[in-house]
Amino acid sequence: MDNNKKLAELLFPGVDKTPEDFEAVYPPRELPEGARVTRFAPSPTGYLHIGGLFGALVDVLTAHSTGGVAYLRIEDTDKKREIEDGVSAIISGFNYFGVDFDEGVTGFGTEKGAYGPYTQSHRAEIYHAVAKRLVENGLAYPCFCTSDELSQLRDRQESEGALIRGYFGKWAKCRNLSLEEIEKNLAEGKPWVLRLRSSGSEDKRIVFDDVIRGKIEMPENIIDEVLLKSDGIPTYHFAHTCDDHYMRTTHVIRAEEWISSVPKHIELFRACGFRLPKYAHTPQVLKTDEETGDKRKLSKRKDPEAAVSYFVERGIPKESVLEYLLTLINSTFEDWRRANPKEDISKFPFNLKKMSSSGCLFDLVKLNDVSKNVISLMSAKQVYDNIAEWAKVYDPEFYEIFTADPAFSTEAVNIDRENPKPRKDIAKWSEVKEYFSYLYTPLYTPDYSLPDNISKLDAAEIAEKYSGVFSLDDDKDEWFAKIKEMCEPLGFTPNVKEYKKNPDGFKGHVGDVSTVIRIALTSRRNTPDLYSIMKLLGADEIKSRLAQAIESWK
Ligand code: GLU
Repeated sequence: MDNNKKLAELLFPGVDKTPEDFEAVYPPRELPEGARVTRFAPSPTGYLHIGGLFGALVDVLTAHSTGGVAYLRIEDTDKKREIEDGVSAIISGFNYFGVDFDEGVTGFGTEKGAYGPYTQSHRAEIYHAVAKRLVENGLAYPCFCTSDELSQLRDRQESEGALIRGYFGKWAKCRNLSLEEIEKNLAEGKPWVLRLRSSGSEDKRIVFDDVIRGKIEMPENIIDEVLLKSDGIPTYHFAHTCDDHYMRTTHVIRAEEWISSVPKHIELFRACGFRLPKYAHTPQVLKTDEETGDKRKLSKRKDPEAAVSYFVERGIPKESVLEYLLTLINSTFEDWRRANPKEDISKFPFNLKKMSSSGCLFDLVKLNDVSKNVISLMSAKQVYDNIAEWAKVYDPEFYEIFTADPAFSTEAVNIDRENPKPRKDIAKWSEVKEYFSYLYTPLYTPDYSLPDNISKLDAAEIAEKYSGVFSLDDDKDEWFAKIKEMCEPLGFTPNVKEYKKNPDGFKGHVGDVSTVIRIALTSRRNTPDLYSIMKLLGADEIKSRLAQAIESWK
């Protein structure tokens, strides 16, 4: 037995499975030509970042637009970052947004798919089999350096002004330990980590083709990277190499902060004898800092909107968030949407190559506009159901009021909806309570303040007159004709044009008369179609509100 084999046996005595065994367990996938296999691989932090949702959408769209597979892998090798229920929060975030992975973790302790386990902490035997093989091939070695020794190494590199810092070459104390020395250290029970024996060279460069960014050239890796920590748990670098290989990932799509690690990863894939996947590094999700005006990464600490729960709690529909993210993901999305206003986003012909490589600015104001548009295209039933579902959890008091008479509330949300030019004024479900407060007695607090150009006396007169003439049997034309008819005797013009010709000759125009009626009935200067609102309020309520308004203006 050669020394490497002996060393491998010494380090991994119980490991009897080989990389070939796992090749057989996880054979290449039978997928059509060109199908892409992607993965979303979060750490279980108990928090789904909007950038994570963005990345996951890119994964799913890439896979599904090519007839491939997208799966969810939980990367829990960094135990320090793990928090209880860390997985469930991520999964429920994806469930809420309807992001559907074909395989992988489906909940805490549950998963689906033939390439699992999909949680890294359950894959130790795979990592150890590959690690053992690397040692057998002389491509990895145990390092016994203590943290003190490593910090001395850093100090020395600093004082000598070493251009490249880290554990490599002449600095790598354990790189050339003899088998006897290693045996002795092990016998003494010294803790060890497993390091890659890098074959990189300081003056060589590697070039790789990032699917989003094109050709990227970087110095080769020369660092003897840690593969297994002293507790046998792999580092991210090593775990993702094994996982992306045995899960047969074709496209590693991940955040741009990983670009600098690519040389390491390329060396690792080669050392393990694995075929290199394609890499695509997605742009960061940025925001404009309110104080400095500079663009910066959305921060979990500073920006509440970094967590997807922000949108859920405020009742910003998932459709709006997804729609907006798609506009950030592909510049061609908006054209496609104009041409296909009703199509599901899963039909969008997504192209990874059309992604911008610079950061995407996540702007809540734009999201608001997108959301108004998205909601305006929903049916009354959809809107009713969404509001009820949201309110049940986040505003139970409103839920009771809103759902007490479903037919009434459905009619309410149907005002100015389901027509070719729907009204675009609701952006989130949490706005609805205030928006429609005048339709629900328990929510209604009258406010009869008038615009400056209308006197209380005139307002009272208008309301009084109107109380005598309105009829809910009128159709919309008759309804408006009656308001116009009231104008002249009260000193207002029945149309705006006439008033503009001679503004000093009149108190105002039909718009002012309508405003008074609107304020009397809803306490608002601006509402959706007043005729429809009156139908919902009913004659008795209209009469009583007009009387109250008159009382307050007299
Ligand atoms: N677990 C890594 C992270 O959360 C994922 C990186 C990758 O997608 O490869 O950043």
